[in-house]
Amino acid sequence: MAELKCILWDVDGTLADTERDGHRVAFNMAFEEAGLERRWDIDTYGELLAVTGGKERIRFDIDRGDMPEMPYEDIAALHARKTIHYQSLIAEGRIPLRPGVRRLLEEAYDADITLGISTTTTPSALDALIEHSLGKEWFDRFAVLAAGDIVPAKKPAPDIYHYAMEQLGVAAENTLALEDSANGWKSARAAGIKCVVTVNGYTREHDFNGADLVVTELGEPDTDAVDVLQNPHELECHHVQLKHLQAILHG
Ligand SMILES: [Mg+2]
Repeated sequence: MAELKCILWDVDGTLADTERDGHRVAFNMAFEEAGLERRWDIDTYGELLAVTGGKERIRFDIDRGDMPEMPYEDIAALHARKTIHYQSLIAEGRIPLRPGVRRLLEEAYDADITLGISTTTTPSALDALIEHSLGKEWFDRFAVLAAGDIVPAKKPAPDIYHYAMEQLGVAAENTLALEDSANGWKSARAAGIKCVVTVNGYTREHDFNGADLVVTELGEPDTDAVDVLQNPHELECHHVQLKHLQAILHG
């Protein structure tokens, strides 16, 4: 029986539906700007999400023959431009938070739960999302922002979770992760952290066998939008609340 002291949040697909409406669109803007014909449609981007990291996704698309060969510097430049486009999309308010995210963050913050971010997204993209979707006060409310290339091995490796817990001085048994994808769930599991998964259109068919709760979204009290897909702790769960996360760790 362990007490819940810390919640670590994934960003892309978990805090906001950033992949389909943010990153994908920003990649296409960078491709068009560079004079490339390639566009990643929604299904294609769904395939590429199996590859972690933006530069790595471009490399993968080149290697399978769907984009022209280019040196690493060009890939890095494309990715840098994509990051700028992505920040513009966020700054224009085109990427809202997912349902229930603000509610659960505020509930946990008010209960003095330590909050942190554990993501492979770039620090600048994370900063833009916090500033424009969550609000500047959250820069202080998150006790750690673990993002980007701060550790060498990206998810599904556990390194980013290990890093965040080390920075915070919390143990895995007192920590719970929120993720939306199989890679994220594997990363949390490999770090010994229990995990609630909020799936989206890209991740619904992933294998989350062993996850502590799998739902379609965190949900709000006044809606019926939450489908509970896996519920091994048999929680009474209409929308996901702090008490559910605490019950998972107690169990
Ligand atoms: Mg994610």
